[in-house]
Amino acid sequence: MDADRVVVGIDNGATKNNATVLDASGRFLVDRMHEIPSRVAQGPEAAIEAMSETMDLVLRDTGTDRSRVVAVGLDTPGPASAVGVISTRGATNFAQPAWWGFDVRGALEAHIGLPVVYNNDGNAAALYAHHVHFGADAPMHSSVSAVVGTGLGGGVIEAGLVVRGAAGMAGELGHVQIFTDGLLADDQPMPTCACGNSGDVESLASLTGIARNLLPYWLTRYPEHPLAALPIAQAAKEVRTYGVDGDEMALRLFDQQAAALGRLFTIAANYSDPSVYFVGGGVVEAAPHFRDWFLDRVRAHTRLREEQAAIAGFALVPDRDMAGARGSALAATAMLK
Ligand SMILES: [Zn+2]
Repeated sequence: MDADRVVVGIDNGATKNNATVLDASGRFLVDRMHEIPSRVAQGPEAAIEAMSETMDLVLRDTGTDRSRVVAVGLDTPGPASAVGVISTRGATNFAQPAWWGFDVRGALEAHIGLPVVYNNDGNAAALYAHHVHFGADAPMHSSVSAVVGTGLGGGVIEAGLVVRGAAGMAGELGHVQIFTDGLLADDQPMPTCACGNSGDVESLASLTGIARNLLPYWLTRYPEHPLAALPIAQAAKEVRTYGVDGDEMALRLFDQQAAALGRLFTIAANYSDPSVYFVGGGVVEAAPHFRDWFLDRVRAHTRLREEQAAIAGFALVPDRDMAGARGSALAATAMLK
């Protein structure tokens, strides 16, 4: 291993890119955001150029010569294949037809002349959480991460590596259907997801699920609630503030999200029995008492066998803003060896 070698991680988002540099000793050379506009809405050519500029920016800011870079890790929002081809049906963040079926990994590789390793953003965050938690022991452990955002992202890590699957579609945890008996109130309609499923994890545990399913129901139970006066999209964004303040309706809503994650993790417990269950997303940035309450509720809703409960941990995906870029860099570290 050449000690001078580094890898760059690029986290591509709908509006911004962030980047980091990881050296051969496993140290991140960046401890703050290095963001520039991602220009995704301008189409693939502008977006690939923006990714290249993001790399140049982070190299300049860390005083790293470009000749030291041996590989780049890239993540984007999904859905995309394991090798970084955007879904042929398009994707929320890649709406223009020019993006459909576009090989974003291959295009960046051709543009910068370096190997590019691709993950979707959920998998990159899952990989980062796993490596932070286990450090040098990462290859000896498995974990599952659920990241609550606009949708429900995440990933499955086995022996320290992202589980990609035959078609690259492993770890699509949001669209796993869960048993809703005892989770929904008696008069609560079955939640639906944009993917066409009913009662999947994302239909409950996501901002979209709050706006589409949870809040419209809970406001019928609490018609005098201040959020009833707001447009539903805005109310969905603000409900966490009420949860932090201990509002009864908000806590019931978030307990349903925690129950959805717990039932997902119960499936994981029976399927691959991971060492740690990670929860990420906006909740990580919420006030500590609310964050801890939410994680405790997820744990309470997860049915583990006694032998599993004695070993398994529940933890948060750390550094929400940095997790994508750092996980992407970690995914490229095999190139350092
Ligand atoms: Zn779904």
